[in-house]
Amino acid sequence: MEILQQLHLTVFAIDVFRLSIWLLIIMIIFVPLENLYPLRPQKIFRKAFFTDLTYFFLSGLLPKLLLVVPMSMLALALHGIVPGGLHEWVAGLPLGVRFAAAMVVGEMGSYWAHRWMHEVPLLWRFHAVHHSAEQLDWLVNTRAHPLDQVFTRLCGFIPMYLLGLAQPVTNQMDLVPLLVILTGTIWGFFIHANVRWRFGWLELFISTPDFHHWHHTNDGKAFINKNYSAMLPWVDKLFGTYYLPKQSWPTRYGINEILSVGIVGQLLRPFRFQKR
Ligand SMILES: [Zn+2]
Ligand SMILES: [Zn+2]
Repeated sequence: MEILQQLHLTVFAIDVFRLSIWLLIIMIIFVPLENLYPLRPQKIFRKAFFTDLTYFFLSGLLPKLLLVVPMSMLALALHGIVPGGLHEWVAGLPLGVRFAAAMVVGEMGSYWAHRWMHEVPLLWRFHAVHHSAEQLDWLVNTRAHPLDQVFTRLCGFIPMYLLGLAQPVTNQMDLVPLLVILTGTIWGFFIHANVRWRFGWLELFISTPDFHHWHHTNDGKAFINKNYSAMLPWVDKLFGTYYLPKQSWPTRYGINEILSVGIVGQLLRPFRFQKR
């Protein structure tokens, strides 16, 4: 029993160390970037910075644990209902093609997960945590309720499992979903960043800070519930939720609901009785 406890502690310590290294790399990229090309003058240690830093570690540790069982069950169930032959054919495609296909179908799943979180009041309770940020920077990417992350990840993986682009849990490394998660995570930091760059016509094909900043706007009803895609804005175009003016940026972010300042209150809030 003691050996098992020690093993758990070691795994936990390795995870925390791994996340710290990631944090360092991300800071080395984004802190100078926000300093050189800021959209707004903003301090690195802005309001709620340390709460979001706690979310960084929580997001790196908890959803992974919560996902192990539902992901394996989902994978096996979905693999069982697909006609034979499709997965073998997909497995024979080049890695680049499988990666591109996984990015597209994964986005379709996570687009709808994200949209439902805005449209279904029960799901919004969890997603409101992410939108409560009143100043945007790279670190806001990690501010999310663990169950929000679990739901998005599951919905993103459903089409990948169906098409055989991700495999049920095996001992071998599943490269395509790993690349999709890695790309999506790194890009997530970029689109939240306090960076004023614009990308012209490319903005329809790949999400950028202005695209996602408009998703966080609190400028009024006409502007909210747009731009749900994490990576591919044309998916919003396809489903009628694309909004990206050529020049302007939102004037304010956040939500009208009041959330507690501390992380514990924010995590427990979705489970409390609320009128909305
Ligand atoms: Zn949202
Ligand atoms: Zn966001």
